[in-house]
Amino acid sequence: MTEQRRPELDTLAVHAGGDPAAADGAVVGPVHRSATYLYPDADRPLRYSRYGNNPTQVAVQRKLAAIEGAEAALLLASGMAALATAILAVCERGDHLIAAAGLYGGTRTLLDEELPRLGIETSYAPGEDPAAWREAARPETRLFLWESISNPLLRVADGPALAELARELGAVSLVDATFASPVHQRPISFGADLVMHSATKYLGGHSDLVGGVLAGGEERIETARERMKSFGASADPAAAFLLDRGLKTLPLRMARHDENGREVADFLAGHPAVAAVHHPSRKDHPDRAVIERVLDGAGGVVTFVPTTDPVEAERIVGRLRWIRLAPSLGGVESLVSMPALTSHRSLSSEERSRLGIPDETIRLAVGVEAAEDLIADLDRALSS
Ligand code: PLP
Repeated sequence: MTEQRRPELDTLAVHAGGDPAAADGAVVGPVHRSATYLYPDADRPLRYSRYGNNPTQVAVQRKLAAIEGAEAALLLASGMAALATAILAVCERGDHLIAAAGLYGGTRTLLDEELPRLGIETSYAPGEDPAAWREAARPETRLFLWESISNPLLRVADGPALAELARELGAVSLVDATFASPVHQRPISFGADLVMHSATKYLGGHSDLVGGVLAGGEERIETARERMKSFGASADPAAAFLLDRGLKTLPLRMARHDENGREVADFLAGHPAVAAVHHPSRKDHPDRAVIERVLDGAGGVVTFVPTTDPVEAERIVGRLRWIRLAPSLGGVESLVSMPALTSHRSLSSEERSRLGIPDETIRLAVGVEAAEDLIADLDRALSS
């Protein structure tokens, strides 16, 4: 008898979730726009698109679960919807959570401004230092939250150690794996309870959809689905369709983002007008040993500090031709932003410097164009 092998991620990204036979032989499933469905008998659950069980939503959720190696997955209206839903599926009034320092700014706002009004408190600890998480833990700690790779310094959390500690302390672990994507890290495989993505980024891959993903055990995802229904946070079927299409090329795109990210980081590190480069591929990265254990690739986000003042750094950004000035990451097109003007705008200049993000810091989200063209673009902008 031939042994059934588990398909590779590349194959799952193309085939999982859909069944052409079930869609009248259509190789590509349709966008089911119907908001509601006939109720054939009392034994079948009600089908309604806000519940996330329209066939287009279901197909992509199956694909996402397969890719993550999770029992179940849920597609939501945005990355923030996924994060808020996950937290509300785990925490109640009086609970405490520990989160990694250096989280995405929108997540900080949720934790610092919204959750306290619901009676949920947050402490912060560096993702690279699990001992600090043990120290921050309290009897009422219910959740550990960290990002696979932080922004904009690209620090890499010791996921397996944090997941193990969370389990030991009876807390749930939730990983925002947006920057790594499932191609470079699958947190369920090292024991994390829940993984979350802004599907707006690498998963969609073309900057043409807003979505969020939660994946994990069946029971937790069902609880999250109940919250999603009550808060109305499900994704539109059109976004589900676009996401399904984007996912088919995720492994191909990630390979190119990774390759381009490395080449751009190496070029910048050798440039006389550059003082510092942050990218998980660099040999001098402070989390080198953890990276070897937890990441299968370095990704497309590269942060660098030019040897100039912030005003000249803005001019450098303005001189770029292919790399366009816009927030976000993970699309096929290269983008550039300055943390002092975007993600870290709310901090003072001194605070930013203390965090290692001086005001002249530039963050690149390297796309899938030819690396030579991106490097020539950067060289011209830095040398003018
Ligand atoms: N998590 C990370 C790491 C992000 O970078 C972002 C957005 O930039 C989000 C979550 C929020 O995602 P969305 O914009 O899809 O709500």
